[in-house]
Amino acid sequence: MTKALIRLFIRDADKTKYARVREQYGVLSGAVGLACNVFLFLLKLTIGFLTGSISIAADAFNNLSDGLSCLISIVGFKVAGKAPDAKHPFGYGRTEYIAGLIVAFIIVLVGFEFLKTSADRIIHPEPVAFSGVLLAILAVSMLVKLWMGAFNSSIGRRIESPVLLAAGQDSRNDVITTLVVVLGMVAGRFTTLPVDGYVGVLVALFILWAGVGSCATRLRRCSVRRRTRRSRITSRKLCANPIILSAYMI
Ligand SMILES: [Zn+2]
Repeated sequence: MTKALIRLFIRDADKTKYARVREQYGVLSGAVGLACNVFLFLLKLTIGFLTGSISIAADAFNNLSDGLSCLISIVGFKVAGKAPDAKHPFGYGRTEYIAGLIVAFIIVLVGFEFLKTSADRIIHPEPVAFSGVLLAILAVSMLVKLWMGAFNSSIGRRIESPVLLAAGQDSRNDVITTLVVVLGMVAGRFTTLPVDGYVGVLVALFILWAGVGSCATRLRRCSVRRRTRRSRITSRKLCANPIILSAYMI
């Protein structure tokens, strides 16, 4: 399926060093991720409502936050493919950076909200309706995430993109998150303990961890970018010297 998508949507798919081809790969993986995550969000939100489970609802929002991250990743690849111009001599990286930071911040807020609600469910448990069919659907949704993980990793390796490799790893982590939710639902049948609330707290912590991690990576990348900006000026000065033809990777 990965190969079919690449053949369908990417021209000159072998020329992965070209900015234009990289942009196409990045946008393809972002669009597929966005579509899958929005689908999973709606599916899990519905199941969450039908069963009254807070842990499933939290898992739904975990997928929605991934969808938002895909959107930022699309912006990022579009921006990277755009050459710097007179008005923006350092390119358009800041757009992606600020949008990414806002999304990371929203994800942290969502995590906090679910942490509060889930903790409340531990103190005041509410009945959760058990349904084998709905659980089976959740289990199948894990296969979607498993495929997304393989898809992102495959494209990430192809164009050597740390962003896509990280997205692939995140998809695999999400499979485990949903597995814990499913196991929690089954366990909840055999005990009077507020398992749903406990699992909700776990999922909320996972969302928080992903959000904080995303904030940290972006802040770190910003300082790296500043350094390259300075080195670019240095290399321009060097190139002004008639003896030196070009300067790379300073
Ligand atoms: Zn995720």
